[in-house]
Amino acid sequence: MGVMHIPGHERQKPREVSLEEIREVLGDCRLCQLAETRTKIVFGVGNPRARVMFVGEAPGRNEDLQGEPFVGRAGENLNAILSLAGLKREDIYIANVLKCRPPGNRNPKAEEVLACSPFLREQIRSIWPDIIVTLGNPATHFVLKTEIGITRLRGRFHQMGHFVVMPTFHPAAALRNPAWQELLEQDFRMLGDYLARHPVDGPVIPATAHSDALPRIEE
Ligand code: SF4
Repeated sequence: MGVMHIPGHERQKPREVSLEEIREVLGDCRLCQLAETRTKIVFGVGNPRARVMFVGEAPGRNEDLQGEPFVGRAGENLNAILSLAGLKREDIYIANVLKCRPPGNRNPKAEEVLACSPFLREQIRSIWPDIIVTLGNPATHFVLKTEIGITRLRGRFHQMGHFVVMPTFHPAAALRNPAWQELLEQDFRMLGDYLARHPVDGPVIPATAHSDALPRIEE
């Protein structure tokens, strides 16, 4: 895994680098062409010690204008269903694979993901969550390193390195498809059940020992 260079952190371990330091390194990033069309960089927001980190694809129109991820209708949907997992917005951290909006919400290009993803990797290392929830296909494909569609991957946990990963639908896509919304809510209940069975003050369970975290599906 590529590690971005943060001065003073040559051999950083999980949680050694703060989100503020990563944001500082990101600065007024112009590493890819999306810098030309963005309004604001959308770095990420939330609890720097979150147990659950949500990863989306890229900022949309509202996010680009406000500089915050998951505002607007998708954000409202996410806020509403968080309670199904026993979570509040202030409990979680949320970030996107891309920090700048692709024009017209087109799909991210491979070179943009390559340029931007070290920042997300560092955010994950800084937060070191118990679970990563990937929202939609692009975020899921990036985190699980697969091309399998979300409808086949959702509904269960996957193991990716240290992390337990729960792929599910993007809240914006679920708003357009009631059947997906139902499945999204089902996944959030499953997440709540997992968190209740693995309390934060419980014994430390190595990631590989989570019985409900399945190895990744082979293509
Ligand atoms: S998308 Fe990422 S790499 Fe590209 S300009 Fe924005 S912050 Fe930099």
